[in-house]
Amino acid sequence: MSEVSRRVAALEESATVAITARAKELRASGRPVIGFGAGEPDFPTPPAIVEAAREAALDPRFHRYTPTGGLPELRSAIAAKTARDSGLAVTPSQVVVTNGGKHAVYTACQVLLDPGDQVLLPAPYWVSYPEAVRLADAVPVPIATDHATGYRVTVDQLEAVRTEHTRMLIHVSPSNPTGAVYPAEEVEAIGRWAVEHGIWVLTDEIYEHLVYGVEASSLPVVVPEAEEWCVVVNGVAKTYAMTGWRVGWLIAPAAIATSAITLQSHLTSNVANVSQAAALAAVSGPLDTVAEMRTAFDRRRRTMHRMLNEIPGVTCPEPFGAFYAFPSVAGLLDRRIGESTPRTSLQLAAVLLDEIEIAVVPGEAFGAPGHLRLSYALGDDDLVEGITRLQKLIARSS
Ligand code: GLU
Repeated sequence: MSEVSRRVAALEESATVAITARAKELRASGRPVIGFGAGEPDFPTPPAIVEAAREAALDPRFHRYTPTGGLPELRSAIAAKTARDSGLAVTPSQVVVTNGGKHAVYTACQVLLDPGDQVLLPAPYWVSYPEAVRLADAVPVPIATDHATGYRVTVDQLEAVRTEHTRMLIHVSPSNPTGAVYPAEEVEAIGRWAVEHGIWVLTDEIYEHLVYGVEASSLPVVVPEAEEWCVVVNGVAKTYAMTGWRVGWLIAPAAIATSAITLQSHLTSNVANVSQAAALAAVSGPLDTVAEMRTAFDRRRRTMHRMLNEIPGVTCPEPFGAFYAFPSVAGLLDRRIGESTPRTSLQLAAVLLDEIEIAVVPGEAFGAPGHLRLSYALGDDDLVEGITRLQKLIARSS
């Protein structure tokens, strides 16, 4: 008999977290590992944000418990930032501050899902969505998307799997892991379909500012009637290079937000006040740092897309958002690669770490075997060096 609960025993460790940690560990031990695993900007948090945190740490007010739903000034600032950035008008009472975006996803699932509810999950999907759904005893229903359709799900596909138990759709644009960005008309069609059938939409907007030549559209803005059916998830991690500060939020109809706060009051109480003060400085400040990061990511995106497609056996669609490339590596499987013959992308990822010391996340983690996810949120030189290692490995394996 397992010593831990069946619920937890059934969980897979987060592959993105595990691979990022492994790459950092190997680097710290002196190995020249290049990490394409981490979904985190290589930039430092802007100094003004760090300074706000330093001041907060010195203020006795922040040494105490604060309201579970978030500092009132932060909830107001998030409401204002949301109106500024996506055009969605919300009240501070609809905002719940969480320990990162991942916690907001978990909370939304706990608050909205009952055992047996079905959650539509376009695949490839971010690793933590199906687990958050299962932790609520609900059932993830993956829907395969592919290169030919730009890794975007259609209403016809959603309708084909809808049942009386369908309770929620997880909609992510820009997408982790494919970089797909849904055009406004497709967002509109999905939003109208959700309203028509009374299906909740968890819309993850964490990459809203990381788009390249296209625009991200917020579902409840494009379809205002959908607001009553939407939980928007967002956070400071990607926009302000603040992955380690752990501040995210959800925005929901007020009754849902109140329930989320009730849950959080037993789970975590308030998010660390110093981090909230930093997040307040971030969301009420300018967007100039993200503009600089976007320029760098765009340059790296183009380099990575080009270099990956130069490799025989690799096909990489152009990513239009976030900071990931998601190539098919089907052409590298079942053949000799270096000293091994990987049969799956999981095995290929292990070979790449072993033989050329590059850390990538296998597609299996995202419900898309035969692919790899490579983050391009790393330095330009490392990026070129890492992909060059891959190019040379494949060239000498041919
Ligand atoms: N969201 C990032 C990623 O996909 C961070 C790691 C994680 O929390 O999964 O790599």
